[in-house]
Amino acid sequence: MAKVNLTNLVKEYRDGKRTVFRAVKGIDLEIRDREFMVLVGPSGCGKSTSLRMIAGLEDITAGSISIAERVVNDVLPKNRDIAMVFQNYALYPHMSVYDNMAFGLKLMKYSKAEIDERVRYAAGILGLESLLERKPKQLSGGQRQRVAVGRAIVRKPKVFLFDEPLSNLDAKMRVQMRTEISKLHTRLNTTMIYVTHDQVEAMTMGDRICVMKDGHIMQVAEPLELYNRPANMFVGGFIGSPPMNFFRGAVHQHAGALFFTERNDSENAFTVGLDARFREQVGQGIGGEFVLGLRPEDLRLAGVDEESAIRARVEVSEPMGAETYLHLDTGGHAFVARVGCSQRFQSGEIVGLVPDMGKAHLFDPMTEANLA
Ligand code: ATP
Repeated sequence: MAKVNLTNLVKEYRDGKRTVFRAVKGIDLEIRDREFMVLVGPSGCGKSTSLRMIAGLEDITAGSISIAERVVNDVLPKNRDIAMVFQNYALYPHMSVYDNMAFGLKLMKYSKAEIDERVRYAAGILGLESLLERKPKQLSGGQRQRVAVGRAIVRKPKVFLFDEPLSNLDAKMRVQMRTEISKLHTRLNTTMIYVTHDQVEAMTMGDRICVMKDGHIMQVAEPLELYNRPANMFVGGFIGSPPMNFFRGAVHQHAGALFFTERNDSENAFTVGLDARFREQVGQGIGGEFVLGLRPEDLRLAGVDEESAIRARVEVSEPMGAETYLHLDTGGHAFVARVGCSQRFQSGEIVGLVPDMGKAHLFDPMTEANLA
């Protein structure tokens, strides 16, 4: 069992006795045995710091970390049964691929035969057999990254830690390595904790995703749960590309039915009906301010005069091949729609878009919480 538990974990970076920065503000997280957990969030949210604390590369200020039911707060990194893969690979330039992978095991005084078996096993998994005699500078970025992963595999750790391991690769190689690391997880069937700022990596690789912001956890959930039921506006806006659109406005009642009217001084302020699902969410707040969340793909092109169509001006049209991203403006709010690629659009053109209200979200404008 290699469960990892973070309990009320805090990290303050200090300068002497003076607190400089509270980077992790008391997080609780359980990473299950054999789970692929992704920590994701914008730059500075504390994800790398959290990973480095798990690795033992940073002291913890308060709280506790356990790995496989053992509290490791004061255990040296080398005794934590973890292996970490870094963004910059950290390979020894003067050593061959073989020796780079063998080095840690030599330090740990493994026998030559054991080292050889482990290095060849890792090389086999990663397709590095024919490159074992090369030096890092004779390898491509993707191959170097594989060696860095190989160096972790040979240690047979209970937990793998990855800190943005793909960010130095070009876009194509990143996609390829993403799949390889996912396959590796299936094959090794080991707990993996993976830090990235890239929400696509998070969505495609994670069994579960932990979204962080400003040293706090915003939500922990499976990828589709996160996408379909974001806990708050931050998660709604962070997961998904282009991000979820947000419209401020008021919820009101007319002839027994609920409506949302965008707050917008122009003539294009739109009104859409809210189905029964929203009645409980709005509660006593009828007449008050809310934020409507609509994903770009939940907006369908329609005639400008179609009932409940949002009228908007096309600012920019981005043909992506399979679809087109339309950057629009209602006169008060900029937003984006993902539409089919068959139609061409002119800047300044007025279009109608009907939202799929079955997929809409309503947020509290103060707390930013999803009211679902
Ligand atoms: P990135 O994706 O940019 O690496 P991150 O989410 O991984 O971001 P961390 O590296 O964990 O963020 O850093 C969290 C915060 O702590 C940042 O604001 C950073 O500036 C600060 N920080 C990190 N290391 C130190 C340090 N040694 N001293 C002071 N502040 C630090």
